[in-house]
Amino acid sequence: MNLLIMGPPGAGKGTQAEVLVKELNITHISTGDMFRAAIKEGTEMGKKAKSFMDKGELVPDEVVIGMVKERLSQPDCKQGFLLDGFPRTVEQAKALDSTLASLDIKMDGVINIVVPLEKLMARLTGRRVCKGCGASYHVLFNPPKVEGKCNTCDGELYQRSDDNEESVGTRLKAYEDNTKPLIDYYDAKGILLNVNGDQEIKKVLADIVTALKK
Ligand code: ADP
Ligand code: AMP
Repeated sequence: MNLLIMGPPGAGKGTQAEVLVKELNITHISTGDMFRAAIKEGTEMGKKAKSFMDKGELVPDEVVIGMVKERLSQPDCKQGFLLDGFPRTVEQAKALDSTLASLDIKMDGVINIVVPLEKLMARLTGRRVCKGCGASYHVLFNPPKVEGKCNTCDGELYQRSDDNEESVGTRLKAYEDNTKPLIDYYDAKGILLNVNGDQEIKKVLADIVTALKK
């Protein structure tokens, strides 16, 4: 199954993706995670991406598109994949369409997690991420069993440098201006699955699974 998960920053894409890829045995492709890995490795692309990410701005299309094209051609994508955080602009969506066509791959569904905008600031500023496996927690809404430690891999939890009020404000605006139009883009293709993300994490997952079965 080839899927895409979209929604504003903080909608719960990463949280749901972590479980979905295990259940469906597909490859998780998060462009945000790929950039953070590149920053950690100190690559040229990582350095370029960091300057945009710190401010909460989108990394330029040509950088992201090239990275995703390369990733989708790797063998582990043949078992199916879940794209998370890509595409974020209409240009990226068009590039994805042509890449998938050239690889003879069909997109089976686009999960759109819907959350009221006013809930997102608290979700993002309270987010904590595992240094080891990238799992997402929240200090109030989804705390780990042991403070500061990941439930699954015992890794240390940290706060992303872009999860501050100023960056989040810019990211929410970037979503409204650039990414929201993709809802209509995929709806027109008849593959959009809207899911209410403003409910318990487990209930959101159950609704995604139900939507995928339809
Ligand atoms: P995204 O990948 O869409 O940016 P995350 O999955 O990292 O979002 O979730 C953002 C924050 O919101 C995290 O702290 C996460 O624990 C929390 N969160 C995710 N889903 C829910 C939910 N259904 N209710 C409350 N908090 C949630
Ligand atoms: P995320 O982990 O999805 O919240 O992404 C973190 C940051 O990485 C974003 O705020 C952007 O700066 C950058 N980024 C991730 N994916 C993309 C994309 N598809 N297009 C542009 N920038 C991206």
